[in-house]
Formats: sequence, C-alpha cells, structure tokens
Amino acid sequence: MENFYCEKCKRITETAVKKVQEAYPVKNENVVIESDVRYCAVCGEALWDNALDEANLIRAYDKFKEQKGLLSSDQIKQTRKKYALSQSMFAKLLGVGEKTITRYENGAIQDKAQDNLIRLIDNAKIFEKLFRLNQKEIGPKEIRKLENILLQIKKTV
Ligand SMILES: [Zn+2]
Repeated sequence: MENFYCEKCKRITETAVKKVQEAYPVKNENVVIESDVRYCAVCGEALWDNALDEANLIRAYDKFKEQKGLLSSDQIKQTRKKYALSQSMFAKLLGVGEKTITRYENGAIQDKAQDNLIRLIDNAKIFEKLFRLNQKEIGPKEIRKLENILLQIKKTV
C-alpha cells in the first residue's frame, strides 16, 4: 500500500487503487475504459495520482485506436524495428516530421493516411521503393546500412 496526502483527512493516509469504468475524451469522442483510481483508505476520497492518470490516458488512446482500426503504438514500433531503423530515419522514409514517429510510439493518434502508409511500408518491396525514392535525404553511411538491411530481408523472404 502506498501512502498519499489526503486533502480531506489533511494528513498522509494509506491508500488503495480500485478499477473504475471511466469515460475519457479522445478526439471529441468518449472512450470508456477501466481506469485505475487511487482512494484514501480512511475517508474514501479519490486522490490525484499522476502516474496512474498517465497510464489511464494511454489506455484510452489505445482503445480509441483499436476502435478505429488504427495500428497500436507497439505495432508501429514493430514495423520500424523490423527494418532496424531509428525513429528519425523511419520518419524520413515515410516523409513525416522527425518527431512524428516518436509521438506515435508514445501513444499519440495517427491519422488514417499515415496509418495506411505505415501498413504499406511493412511490405519489404514498398520499403525498398521508398528507400530508393528518398535516397537524397539519407546520408551515405545510412544508405549502406539500409542496403544491408534490404539484403538481409531478401535472404529471409
Ligand atoms: Zn482521506
């Protein structure tokens, strides 16, 4: 059990975490999730817990993506890791802003067009095509690295 300061009891008390059905607003829609809420074990008052709230928010975003048929943060990461790419290199190949992939992998919601693009690049042939198209923007060292990755992929396919 963790101890928190309770505003109502005006002292540090023992607390407990309970599961509560809660609606979170995501992109003008309400997403109902089972969220974790901390309560004062003495008076029953709900207490603010930043870490729990952040985890609840990520859960709401993931549920929203699932409902909309969008890739989850983990699925986006898996596609990037499949090609052993850094977030910024992955962004270059997709033609999106450098921080965009970082945000998606941290839970932000991608729009449908970008979701489609990430699904397409999961196909090695499309990956190669985008790599050839965007070579100008990639340094020689990274080009060699990507050529190697492509060779590896072709061997395993
Ligand atoms: Zn209390």
